[in-house]
Amino acid sequence: MNSSAPSDKTGEASVILMRSEELLNWSREKSLWPMSFGLACCAIEMMQAFAANYDLDRFGIFPRPSPRQSDIMIVSGTVTYKMADRIRRLYEQMPEPRYVISMGSCSNCGGPYWQHGYHVVKGVDRIIPVDVYVPGCPPRPEALIDGFLKLQEKIRTEHPLSGKPASIDPVSSDDIPVHSS
Ligand code: SF4
Repeated sequence: MNSSAPSDKTGEASVILMRSEELLNWSREKSLWPMSFGLACCAIEMMQAFAANYDLDRFGIFPRPSPRQSDIMIVSGTVTYKMADRIRRLYEQMPEPRYVISMGSCSNCGGPYWQHGYHVVKGVDRIIPVDVYVPGCPPRPEALIDGFLKLQEKIRTEHPLSGKPASIDPVSSDDIPVHSS
């Protein structure tokens, strides 16, 4: 991006030059609107992230009450087989481009129910595509904010006009913390 701006505030118009794909990506990544939607305990942490202490508004992130006005679904909680159809329907009602953040162990892989939870889907990515996984049980609001930043990184590398896939995978092995015992 090249810009030319007067050093003092004269009121003259300044000029910004950038590629149209960069402009589209910039406007998308700075105005992410997640659907107000929660499933279980992780949703409490998600609500905390939207509250005054963390203030997601400063990132341009505003929760919306309808899938038709949203471009992100945060799957925050346990995905039961009973809810799976509803989650998929809500996802399909969202306009494209749409993104999914899987928040917490339950949504990522079944969490504490992964072995004996006959009623739990072992990962929401079995029913809808996921862009970013946020680990934890539950993840703290800071972890969800980090997930949003990863999603913004991904959107920045997309090619909305040419239709090519994003240049980077936002979830790399470098992002996964390694704990030694
Ligand atoms: S990952 Fe943990 S905190 Fe989140 S919904 Fe599952 S059991 Fe609850």
